[in-house]
Amino acid sequence: MKRMNFTFDADTVDLLDELAQKFYGGNKSQTVRAALESLAVHAGHEGWVITGYTPQKIEDHVDCHSCGEAHHKGEVLYRPVFERGSSSKAMPTIPEENWLDCPKCAEKQFQ
Ligand SMILES: [Zn+2]
Repeated sequence: MKRMNFTFDADTVDLLDELAQKFYGGNKSQTVRAALESLAVHAGHEGWVITGYTPQKIEDHVDCHSCGEAHHKGEVLYRPVFERGSSSKAMPTIPEENWLDCPKCAEKQFQ
């Protein structure tokens, strides 16, 4: 827990009071947290994000998921690891397709 100070205009203070009273038993911290969580969801930045890759030697011809470059048996491509998180690239659901990226595209995810 960390104490933070904000400056709000009168209308915002009234709105915070009203929402806190109505929904959170007067608890303004909880109200602000709920407001931020709601914002994160509606801004579309909350979802599944790629947090890493696991290497996978391919057994067949595979096109890179991101750039479409062709790869062949014996080459190593990278399968993304998804975790819940916030990012401008967050996806609402885990993609169903077989997702393998070439090394260049895997690196680009973290630049
Ligand atoms: Zn690629």
